[in-house]
Amino acid sequence: MRERGTARVRIAPELRFLLPRRHRGGDVSVILDGTSSVLHVVESLGVPRTEIGTLLVGGAPVSDAYRPQRADEVRVLPVMRPQALAEPRFLLDVHLGALARRMRLVGLDSAYGNRADDDELVAAAGQQRRMLLTRDRGLLKRRALTGGAYVRGDSADDQLADVIERFAPDLAPWTRCLMCNGILEEVPLDRVAHLLQPGTVRSYATFARCRDCGRPYWRGAHADRLNAVVQRAVDGNRADRNGSGCRVSPTGTGWRSGGTGSPSTGWRYDMTTTPDAPLNDDDMETVGHSVTGPDADTVDADADGTDSTDSDGTDGTDSDGTDGTDSDGTDGTDSDATDGTDSDATDS
Ligand SMILES: [Zn+2]
Repeated sequence: MRERGTARVRIAPELRFLLPRRHRGGDVSVILDGTSSVLHVVESLGVPRTEIGTLLVGGAPVSDAYRPQRADEVRVLPVMRPQALAEPRFLLDVHLGALARRMRLVGLDSAYGNRADDDELVAAAGQQRRMLLTRDRGLLKRRALTGGAYVRGDSADDQLADVIERFAPDLAPWTRCLMCNGILEEVPLDRVAHLLQPGTVRSYATFARCRDCGRPYWRGAHADRLNAVVQRAVDGNRADRNGSGCRVSPTGTGWRSGGTGSPSTGWRYDMTTTPDAPLNDDDMETVGHSVTGPDADTVDADADGTDSTDSDGTDGTDSDGTDGTDSDGTDGTDSDATDGTDSDATDS
């Protein structure tokens, strides 16, 4: 490596958690090789491109391709929040199943499969024009990735709050199937009666089905936990929009006000023993067994009722994602780079 002097890289406080511990002060002296772009230099320190908002050199914005010069001072600013989305569509990495179900609960279009590999995720995000959400920094450095975001927070509740704060998306609580991301539509009782237990049929008056997987839902008093998740999301969105009006769709607000054609307290699911189970990965097996199976004629794969294995996994990440394996995309060198790749960076 030809040495071309050093540059200083100053990372904004919001991004320093992405740096290896020894760089968490946010001020790193980097030895230049004369060829690397500023984007590569910053990524090699641990900050994926998806988290970088603006790069400044000497106080002026530069492009990703800028090559740092001797004695440059590079400032790295985070993506501005809320971040504009061309389409509010998301694809979640395999480890974010609990977040996926929370996002569906508040009406966000959230594809998720628990078996996709990294190549399939990157390809599917591009083909389906979805924002890839992950906690894998290496995945976010893939050149073929069209849009992605690092999800902050260890708990699914914190992760949901982070997604809502970052994108401030319109919400429509109680409009999507938690299990498959399909849209719920209200249906007359006779369309779902055969899927329900007699007590449910007698006790409730309004029913819905998932258009995609056929699961029945009914309007009812709800587990506090689900309501709490929705309420926090709506409140968070209102705060993120700076009090300028919470953009919750009319059908979404119905869960509180009882608007026409919308659930007044949220749809309930057929889980007699674990009413709020679908929010957790661990509970998915239970859910798969206890939910009354969808119609044999709508989802033939589930006709025999053994749908527990794919109850959460079939909707998108691996259905069409294998044919486009990013021939140009795998920059391979830093698939998991938190602290191993910055051999050229020295502590300041
Ligand atoms: Zn469904």
